[in-house]
Amino acid sequence: MRERLLKVLVIGDLGVGKTSIIKRYVHQVFSQHYRATIGVDFALKVLNWDHKTVVRLQLWDIAGQERYGNMTRVYYREAVGALVVFDMTRLSTFQAILKWKGDLDSKVALSNGRPVPAVLLANKCDQRRHGLCPKLPKLENFSKEYGFVDWYETSAKPPPPALRDKALSHSQTGPGV
Ligand code: GDP
Ligand code: MG
Repeated sequence: MRERLLKVLVIGDLGVGKTSIIKRYVHQVFSQHYRATIGVDFALKVLNWDHKTVVRLQLWDIAGQERYGNMTRVYYREAVGALVVFDMTRLSTFQAILKWKGDLDSKVALSNGRPVPAVLLANKCDQRRHGLCPKLPKLENFSKEYGFVDWYETSAKPPPPALRDKALSHSQTGPGV
């Protein structure tokens, strides 16, 4: 069995949902109130990648230092991927995306010198009706233009039961997969 430890950063402005995304993905929980912890926090997600590889995904949360808009090189060191998150309902967090991407690219690179692959996340898509969709540039073009490898709309908030049941009845894999 091969084991690979991958360090992935989760960056973006305060309140965009970084901690929520990590907690939901790793522990399947969601809360309205995460205490802003101070310093750096990380969570481990173990993935059985294939029959001979286990991936230990180490998700680094920045917990409280977002307000400065940049991080130390030590925080970025040896990262192999990044999620750059903004809140779909707050334009200022979208405007901060390029600052975060710039901070990342100026402080870390892969061992082959290439930029660390970064994925753009438009979080809180459950709040779309309060969102700034008409004001957002097309994320497909935006993410290509600024060197993101991909983009997704995300929500850390579980859907209400009615929607969830509908989603499950359409799913091939069922709950927990
Ligand atoms: P962080 O500062 O980036 O770590 O943001 P948090 O994870 O602490 O989230 C800030 C607030 O947004 C909290 O009240 C969360 O419950 C809420 N939140 C996070 N993600 C979502 C989401 O996808 N949808 C909704 N509706 N609220 C969210
Ligand atoms: Mg947080």
